Amino acid sequence: MSSPDVEGARRAAEALQNGGFVVLAESGAEDAEGNLTLAAQFATPAAVNLLAANANGLVRLCLTDERCQALGLAAYSADEREWQPTAPISLRDVAGTGASAEDRARTIQAAIDPSRQRDDFVQSGYVFPLRARPEGVLRRAGRTEGAVDLARLAGCLPAAAMSLVMNEDGSVAHGPQLAAFAARYDYPLVTVADVIALRRLSEKLVERVTSARLPTDHGEFVAVGFRERLTGAHHIALVCGEVDGVEDVLVRVHAECMGGDVFHSTSCTCARDLQTSLDVIAAEGRGVVVYLVAGDRVPVRLTRHEEVDAGASQMAEYGIGAQILAELGLSTIRLLSNHPRTLTGLEGFGLSVTGFVPIGG
Ligand SMILES: [Zn+2]
Repeated sequence: MSSPDVEGARRAAEALQNGGFVVLAESGAEDAEGNLTLAAQFATPAAVNLLAANANGLVRLCLTDERCQALGLAAYSADEREWQPTAPISLRDVAGTGASAEDRARTIQAAIDPSRQRDDFVQSGYVFPLRARPEGVLRRAGRTEGAVDLARLAGCLPAAAMSLVMNEDGSVAHGPQLAAFAARYDYPLVTVADVIALRRLSEKLVERVTSARLPTDHGEFVAVGFRERLTGAHHIALVCGEVDGVEDVLVRVHAECMGGDVFHSTSCTCARDLQTSLDVIAAEGRGVVVYLVAGDRVPVRLTRHEEVDAGASQMAEYGIGAQILAELGLSTIRLLSNHPRTLTGLEGFGLSVTGFVPIGG
C-alpha cells in the first residue's frame, strides 16, 4: 500500500481548476479501477467526446446529493455503502436525440446550473448521473465522492464528469494499466485516499468540547477534549502550563495503541513513548500531548501502531493533530519524536516544526 499523497491531490485539484483531466483511482492497489475525470463545468463537446472514447460511450456525471434531489434523481440502490447511479438524463430541449457529444455537454452544463429545474430534463437519456453522499469522501470513500470533493477543493462547482478507463481491447484498466494510461497522456493520477488526506488537511475538522484538570503521576495537566466535526471521533490534548501564543512548545502527537497504552504490551514502544513524553513535558513545565483516539476510523492499534511515526502515511492524522494544536493557540512547536522528518502540510494550519526532540529509548 502506498501512503496518501496530499501533494498529488493538490496537483490534481489544480489540474481540474484549469479545466484539465485527472485519473481518479479507487485506491493504489494492483486491481484498482479508475476514472478519467473532469470538473463538470469544463465539459465541452470535445471533452465529452474524449471521455466517451475511453468508456464505451458511458459518461457519468457525479452530482451532490442536494443537486440530485433538486433534479428528482433517485438512486437505484438504497445501500449507503454502494455507489448510487440514478436514471440517465438528457436535457429536454437539445437539438438532437441527446446522444451526441454536443447534446451531452449541454445536458451536463444544464444539470449543474442551479437555475435549471427537474422539468428541464427527460429521464432515460444519455448522461448517467451518480449521487455523491453528503460529506463526500469522509462519509463514503468512493470515486463519486472523490470526484465531487476534488472539484469542490479545486474551487469548481461540486460536480464532475467521468468515464471508466478501459484498455484498447475493451477490458477494464487496473492499477499499473491506469498508471500507464495517466502517464501516456500526462494526466495527474490521484486516489480517493489522497482526496481524503487533502480534505483532512485543509478543512476545519475539530472543535473543542470540554476540559478538566487532570493531576497525574507525571504532573499536573489539563485534559482538553476535541471532537471531529464530521466523524464524531473524540481526541484529547493533555496540556501542561500556559501554551496559548507561546513559541517552540514541546509537543507529542500520540496515536492510540490499546495494546501498548492500556495493557503495556512489550511488543511496541507506545506506552514508554507516552509516559516519557508526559515526564519530559511535565519537567519542562509546558507542553502538549495530543492523544489521537483511533475510534472507528482506524482499526484498534495492536499491530499498526508504528504508523504515525512511520513517515508521511499518517499525514491525515497529523492534520487532525495539527488542527488541535492550532486550536490551542500554538504556532511553532518542538516535536517529541524518534523519527524527525519534514512534515509538509502543517503550514496549512499556521503551524511549523522548529525542532525534533528524541524521546529516548
Ligand atoms: Zn503500540
